[in-house]
Amino acid sequence: MPNEYDIVVIGAGPAGYAAAIRAAQLGMRTACIDKALDREGNPTLGGTCLNWGCIPSKALLDASHKYMEAAHQFDEVGIGVEGLSVDVAKMMQRKDGVVAKLTAGIGMLFDGNGVVSLPGSGRLLAHKHVEYTTHEGEVTELAAEHVILAPGSVPMEIDPVPLVPDVVVDSAGALEFEEVPPRLGVIGAGVIGLELGSVWCRLGSEVVLLEALDEFLPIADQRIARDALRAFGRQGLDIRLGTRVTGASVKGRGKKKQVDVGYQDKDGEHTLTVDKLIVAVGRRPYTEGLLAPDSGVNLDERGFLYVNDLCETDAPDVYAVGDVVRGPMLAHKGAEEGVMVAERIAGHKPMVNYECIPNVIYTHPEIAWVGKTEQDLKADGEAYSVGTFPYAANGRALAANDAEGMVKIVAEEETDRILGVHVFGPQASELIGQAVIAMEFEASAEDIGLTMFAHPTLAEAVHEAALAVGGRAIHMVNRKRR
Ligand code: FAD
Ligand code: NAD
Repeated sequence: MPNEYDIVVIGAGPAGYAAAIRAAQLGMRTACIDKALDREGNPTLGGTCLNWGCIPSKALLDASHKYMEAAHQFDEVGIGVEGLSVDVAKMMQRKDGVVAKLTAGIGMLFDGNGVVSLPGSGRLLAHKHVEYTTHEGEVTELAAEHVILAPGSVPMEIDPVPLVPDVVVDSAGALEFEEVPPRLGVIGAGVIGLELGSVWCRLGSEVVLLEALDEFLPIADQRIARDALRAFGRQGLDIRLGTRVTGASVKGRGKKKQVDVGYQDKDGEHTLTVDKLIVAVGRRPYTEGLLAPDSGVNLDERGFLYVNDLCETDAPDVYAVGDVVRGPMLAHKGAEEGVMVAERIAGHKPMVNYECIPNVIYTHPEIAWVGKTEQDLKADGEAYSVGTFPYAANGRALAANDAEGMVKIVAEEETDRILGVHVFGPQASELIGQAVIAMEFEASAEDIGLTMFAHPTLAEAVHEAALAVGGRAIHMVNRKRR
């Protein structure tokens, strides 16, 4: 007789663990299976996000930003620094400590909420049965009323550039370098390329990013993407657009290994020699070993698990959430889907608002947005108004010596309803939360304009951009006046 649960979740990343915790809070007997092992070979919870993604990358981004400020900006505010140095081993140790604290925290949350944690692999069989294989190879069959699949995603690889341990690495490898590589190549100038490229550039690497597309960050507002490209160039990120990587070969031995990267662009063929190469060309859904042939769950044409807006798969009472299903591969998107599914199973009626998913790129300045870009609206033929406000006219940003960037708001022309908010500047990741709340409540730009913001704060730039939609910004000469 198999063990019986109300819910079995496969995957304990942000999508799966949020689903499991919420299901247990709602009184359901819940088990969560995850096969991830840490560097020491011990089971670890939290998925990509906590172990090899959001959290370790932000720990290194914050540490390297502090170094960059001390090295290049303290002087401007009258602080002298002598003997500044980088201790990569210590930086990595701190990052690992943050990861250990947070992954252990998920274990405590599971215990505290009564989620049964099952380290090992899960495979969906027919009729909501799940085959559970422990790390020791013991196989059990679990029966569940509902199954939630949350196996996440893995880095994509490209044929011309196979990974070579410690030298040609994916994003996880790029979080483990033992020293600052003098020259670093990155294939892909997307989110990971920019974030991890920034980390090592700030610490002293010469960084070249080879991007296949001619356009930089096509998913972001193109005005902001242009400003960001210039800013990153000034910081030392050498971003080469419109390139086609043709191959990579490793030469030398031990710590002296180097990589010759062959690529083509409109000027012909080139070779770039670097000490480390990061491949950051996107991620793909991770479905290997997940489904028995008669599980009833289907894939879509891009290899994601096929689900509807409520994250229901084609198999009754089987759901899928997070990176393994359509939509942006973001931790918060997966977590909201996990919570939605748990609550719907309990009879509640929440939905995920896919129009209001915030995106953040944690460079400096940060890039953050929610909703539609101006180019989306143009393509859809929608009439809209735009308000922008530069950080350079924001008192708090100037006081902090950190005044590069802008806030841009696009609103429906007829109703003034906010359709998109785009921020390039310090703390953009925090400011975008206000825009998400405003859009969730279908606020107009005028609603934000009529709201009082504390002074002096960076958030005043959001206020002023909203006022600028109506030609009423106070600390800027408006192009249109009303
Ligand atoms: P995952 O986090 O990938 O978790 C899936 C889990 O399922 C894994 O632990 C895996 O071991 C387990 N699993 C898979 N198959 C099985 C199976 N058959 N049996 C048992 N267990 C299984 N997103 C953000 O929102 N903000 C960021 O700042 C951010 N930074 C990132 C930085 C990097 C370097 C990377 C790589 C990603 C980043 N992301 C970020 C993306 C984010 O990590 C993912 O969107 C998020 O982790 C997806 O959550 P998930 O639960 O769907 O999958
Ligand atoms: P991405 O889609 O953001 O960027 C990949 C880039 O590589 C694209 O610009 C693409 O055009 C380029 N590319 C693809 N093939 C190429 C090739 N052969 N040669 C050169 N360039 C090539 O993907 P990513 O940076 O790998 O990140 C994966 C996902 O992880 C992201 O989509 C995002 O959802 C998530 N993530 C989020 C955050 C965050 O929220 N801050 C941070 C990191 C990762």
